[in-house]
Amino acid sequence: MSAGFGLAHLPYAAVSHAGREFVAVRLGDDVIDLAALAVISPPPAGVDVSVLAAPDLGALMAAGPDTWAGVRAWLQGSLLSGPTAASIPLADVEPRMPFAVADFVDFYASREHASNLGRIFRPDAEPLLPNWRHLPVGYHGRAGTVVPSGTPVARPSGQQRPGPDGRPGFGPSRALDIEAELGFVVGAPSVPGRPVGTGDFDQHVFGVTLLNDWSARDIQAWEYVPLGPFLGKSFATSISPWITPLAALQSARVPLPGQDPEPLDYLMVEEPAGYAIDLEVDLNGTVVSRPPYAAMYWSPAQMLAHMTVNGASLRTGDLYGSGTISGAEPTRRGSLLELSWGGAESFTLDDGSTRTYLEDGDTVTLRATARGADGELLTLGEVTGTVIG
Ligand code: MN
Repeated sequence: MSAGFGLAHLPYAAVSHAGREFVAVRLGDDVIDLAALAVISPPPAGVDVSVLAAPDLGALMAAGPDTWAGVRAWLQGSLLSGPTAASIPLADVEPRMPFAVADFVDFYASREHASNLGRIFRPDAEPLLPNWRHLPVGYHGRAGTVVPSGTPVARPSGQQRPGPDGRPGFGPSRALDIEAELGFVVGAPSVPGRPVGTGDFDQHVFGVTLLNDWSARDIQAWEYVPLGPFLGKSFATSISPWITPLAALQSARVPLPGQDPEPLDYLMVEEPAGYAIDLEVDLNGTVVSRPPYAAMYWSPAQMLAHMTVNGASLRTGDLYGSGTISGAEPTRRGSLLELSWGGAESFTLDDGSTRTYLEDGDTVTLRATARGADGELLTLGEVTGTVIG
């Protein structure tokens, strides 16, 4: 049995099987059809069975934290004795987009990543801009191009920095990159005009997925001043179809590495506010980096509070990315931009080939693990994509 898919985990997905689309959890190398399980082993009275009979996770996500807790307790009890009549081999189902993405926001919460980019792009200046330690910097991305793992990624074309003649270049990106991130999935909506405090993070966030924020650095470099990322990132963002419930990560919580200066009141957070989740970035079968989520400066609760402090409300299906996860060591950088130091230093794959940025046919897979209740291994759903020319 594959490790990391025990009762302490139970990640959710929407799958298709035998012409039917339904919601499921993974247990070992099986998936459990939640609607079928509800017939065999009825859930408690507080759980509206219709959320289990929906074609994707949207209804369950919208039902809120009491239902999430009720469903999880019911699943852990019903599945104690192993496979049931509601079990289907994992290999027989096709995971689909798990929910309709409402808004997509991406942050920039790794101090190491932000500092590395500052050093690469502004070598003579202070690496971090003045606002960085006071607020989680972010931008609004494109929800409609968030795609499930396995979706091919077409190399984007766009404008690039002008050459000596002053005319911008145009053509396929020659600096196609990845960003290794976590995605936080909002379930319960919030009321317009009412900010969500850091303490209400687990009342709104349903779970966590792996996210690859594909990025065309040459397009990005020319367009991003003064309003931030646009076409250099909006062509595709890949997520794992498996959503790890926030409750499964309770035991993986760790204190943040430390915030100096102390943030404003609305960003104050009760520790432990970080998560010990270890990622790996695989390029064509070579693990090129192992980014540590525990090193992130800003916590997901702070990002949620910041995103709503102006009164902007949350919708079911909102997705926000952590920002590229980079650790202090060179082997823990979560983008090729950093691994190749701005494209200046190539690195070698196990097959002997070298890379700075991605070539057509390259496959990037992000994986992650954490420790759940009683130290049980949790393997987060992987996210993979292949570049096509
Ligand atoms: Mn990003």
